[in-house]
Amino acid sequence: MSRERILVVGAGPVGAVAALACAQRGHPVTLLEAERKVDDSPRASTTQPPTLEILAELGLIDDYVAQGLVARHFQFWDRPTKRLVAEFDFERLRGETPFPYVVQTEQHKLANMAIARLRRMPDVDVHLGARVTGLSQDADRVVVRAEGGSGTRELTADYVIAADGGRSTIRKELGIEFEGYTWPERFLVITTMFDFQSVLPCCLRNYMADPGEWTNLFKVAGDDGRGRWRAVFPTREDEADVEALSDDAVHARLARVHVPDGEGDVVHLNLYHVHQRVAKQFRKGRVFLCGDAAHVNNPIGGLGLNCGIHEAWDLAGLLDQVIRRQADEALLDRYERRRRPLNIEYVQEQTVANKRRLEERDPARRVERFRELAETAEDPARHRAFLLRASLIESARRAAAVD
Ligand SMILES: Cc1cc2nc3c(=O)[nH]c(=O)nc-3n(C[C@H](O)[C@H](O)[C@H](O)COP(=O)(O)OP(=O)(O)OC[C@H]3O[C@@H](n4cnc5c(N)ncnc54)[C@H](O)[C@@H]3O)c2cc1C
Repeated sequence: MSRERILVVGAGPVGAVAALACAQRGHPVTLLEAERKVDDSPRASTTQPPTLEILAELGLIDDYVAQGLVARHFQFWDRPTKRLVAEFDFERLRGETPFPYVVQTEQHKLANMAIARLRRMPDVDVHLGARVTGLSQDADRVVVRAEGGSGTRELTADYVIAADGGRSTIRKELGIEFEGYTWPERFLVITTMFDFQSVLPCCLRNYMADPGEWTNLFKVAGDDGRGRWRAVFPTREDEADVEALSDDAVHARLARVHVPDGEGDVVHLNLYHVHQRVAKQFRKGRVFLCGDAAHVNNPIGGLGLNCGIHEAWDLAGLLDQVIRRQADEALLDRYERRRRPLNIEYVQEQTVANKRRLEERDPARRVERFRELAETAEDPARHRAFLLRASLIESARRAAAVD
C-alpha cells in the first residue's frame, strides 16, 4: 500500500476520531492541535446510537460507556406547571441498533481517549501546541504552516482533514463561506452538583418548554464519576454577560427549575453564542472540512457533534478506498454530496425545530405541540419513527444510500 500521509487539524472530538479512524486503517497520520491540552469545558455529551456503533468499530466503546452515563429515556416537560408531557424510550429501537440508548459522556473524554490510542500507534504523530496558520495546495500535495514551540514550520500532506472547530482557520483560508445566522440570545450552561431528581421525577435528559425561558436539563458523570447536572437556559436578548453570569441571575434561573433557595452548588458557568451555519463547500481539492469547521447548530437534541463524528468516520473510509487505489479520486466528491444535505436536513432543521418547540409563545400552538408530542409517544409506530430521526439512525441509513 502507498504511504500517503493524512494530516488532521484540531484534536477536538471530531479531529481525534478522524485521526484514529485513518490510523486504524493503516495510514500515516499527523494530528496538529493548537492548544497544549484538550478543552475540557462543558460542551457536548449526548452520544446517539449510530455514533456508539462507530465508537465500537474504533474499539473505544467499553471505555466510553464506563466513563459516562447510559440514558434510555428522554422527556418533554411543561416547565411552568411541572407537568411531564411525553417520555420517549430508546428501548423501542431494539433490533434497529445494538445500542438502544444514548450515552452521556463529556466530549473531552472522547478526544483524550482517542489521542491516548493514537500515541500508541506506529506512524502517527500527535503535536499539541501546534497552531495551523495557513495552507496552500496543488494537484498533488497540501502544505500546511504551523506555529508552536520551536517556531513556524511547514508540513506536507496528501490530504488534510480540517477539524479545527467553528472558527476554522482552514475554512477561512480556503475562502469558504459559512452560510447561516447567529441567534440573538446566548445560551447559559450552569453545571451544578444539585440533584434534580431529588425534586422532580425527571430522567437523565429533559427538555422543558416555557414561553418565558426554556430549560434543558441533563446529567453527566463528571471527571470524578460523582455525577453532576447541566442546566441550559437562553439569556434574554438584552441581557449583558455580566448580568447573566451574576450569582443572583444564576440562582434565580435554578429556582425556576425548582432548586430550593440556598441550594444549587454551582461548579461551572458557560455562556456562549449559538449559530446555525453550514459551510458552502465541505471539500476544496485535497482539503476536507469536518465537524464544527463544516457546520454549527444549537445544541438542543444533542446532534451536532454526533454528525461530526459520522463525517469523520465516513471520510476516513472514502480516503482509505482512494489511497488504496480501490476507487478513483472522484469518490471523494461523495463526501460533500452526502454530508452537506444530511447536516442541513437532520441537524440544522431538527435543532431549529427543537428550539422552536421549547420556546413556543402562542398558547394555542403550545397546546397543539404538547398534544402532538404526547400522541407520538403513545403510538408505538410514531414513537419509533420519532426516535429513528431524533437518534440520527435515519440519517445514517440515508448516508449509506447516497452514491
Ligand atoms: C461553549 C459550547 C458549548 C456547547 N455545548 C454543546 C452541548 O451542550 N451539546 C452539543 O451537542 N453541542 C454543544 N456544543 C457543540 C459541540 O461542542 C461541538 O459540536 C463539538 O465541539 C465539535 O467538535 P469538533 O472536534 O468539530 O470541534 P472542537 O471541539 O471545537 O475542536 C476543534 C479543535 O481544533 C483546535 N484548533 C482550532 N484552530 C486550530 C488551528 N488553527 N490549528 C490547530 N488546532 C486548532 C481547537 O483548539 C480544538 O481543540 C457546544 C459548543 C460550544 C462552543
